Amino acid sequence: MRDQMQELFRVALGLAEPWVVSKIEFSAEQHQLDLWVDFPSGSRFACPECGRAGCGAYDSAERTWRHLNFFEHKTFLHARQPRIECPEHGVKTVAVPWARPGSGFTLLMEAFILVLVQGGMTAAQAARLIDEHDTRLWRVLQHYVEQARAAADFSQVKVIGVDETSRRRGHNYITVFSDLDPAQRRVLFVAEGKDADTVAAFKADLEAHGGQATQLQEACLDMSAAFIRGLRDQFPEVPLTFDNFHLMQLLGQAVDQVRREEQRTHPELKRTRYVWLKNEWNHTAEQARVFQELKSSHLATVRATHLKSVFQDAFAFDDLAEAEPFLKQWYFWATHSRIAPMIKAAKTIKAHWAGVLRWFTSRISNGAVEAINGLIQSAKRKARGFRSSAYLMTMIYLIAGKLDFKLPALAQVTHTK
Ligand SMILES: [Zn+2]
Repeated sequence: MRDQMQELFRVALGLAEPWVVSKIEFSAEQHQLDLWVDFPSGSRFACPECGRAGCGAYDSAERTWRHLNFFEHKTFLHARQPRIECPEHGVKTVAVPWARPGSGFTLLMEAFILVLVQGGMTAAQAARLIDEHDTRLWRVLQHYVEQARAAADFSQVKVIGVDETSRRRGHNYITVFSDLDPAQRRVLFVAEGKDADTVAAFKADLEAHGGQATQLQEACLDMSAAFIRGLRDQFPEVPLTFDNFHLMQLLGQAVDQVRREEQRTHPELKRTRYVWLKNEWNHTAEQARVFQELKSSHLATVRATHLKSVFQDAFAFDDLAEAEPFLKQWYFWATHSRIAPMIKAAKTIKAHWAGVLRWFTSRISNGAVEAINGLIQSAKRKARGFRSSAYLMTMIYLIAGKLDFKLPALAQVTHTK
């Protein structure tokens, strides 16, 4: 019976010759299962340097690895890890098949940790579930992200999006570079900060992953002077498209400023912020009522809102030949509106004219990466409570990088839910 149990666990652990399960200890009170894995004396191993087979064990050191729980029981693997003596390379530690060098977790345990976090748990929740300190868990996540990123291939990247986000509202900015190819949509690179240097760092990373600056064809960004400068310096040939969403945000902020100034003399504008910020088709019943009541008044807020929605209409045109005269008219109208915030926003748009019009050729926007943005929001939640941007960057790569982590199949885990 004992032998059968040991054989059962040997198969379950996927152990091959010469490894055998030599002892099993189970404690129901301590919720713990301990498995000792060993090799018979006289066993021979390959040299980890050169692969020379048949090296004898020189000595060994006792080690312990945390393995997947056996039901609710914490499971530990104990083994003496052998060192061999290779005639050419001297004394070397033999890698064990169930763990990578230096890790205190088995490969299956590490795979399980990645599945937990990719599957929706925060790092803190996953750490609690497996009852380990979260720094150990982060070390595992960081290792797999680094390893998978080292193997990532950027040689086919042609269209990129650049966007900033912050770890906390308004603080600790990071810049995210994405591949906007619909079939490849993924985060390519994350850098701390939101300055032109992040673009230089991206270029170096692109080149380190088999890419070249000259392969890029289009880039989408907001009107940030730092990103514009960074892209012009690093990728001078690449036409820039200013992100639609950010253009509308600029006009939305202008409309809101008009409303805030005007409500001092027109109290009926109080608490109507979203009446003007939202598109009409998104109004609630109450917002629609207020909009209907005020829309034929001569309020500057109403005219500003109209300017904003007409600008948005320009993007319904199929081609630039129709859109450009329309936008020029819009600019004339906006700059003659005598509404200062709208004049200022229109002038900002005019100063970025080529990149605004580029959309009619490139048809790219960072809004198209909403799937990625959703994943980044989820990465923020999962890294919440951790002070370092490095953790957030790891989490973004982990869930939005489409990386190949080359982990052992977790069939045993995923099929038992
Ligand atoms: Zn060797």
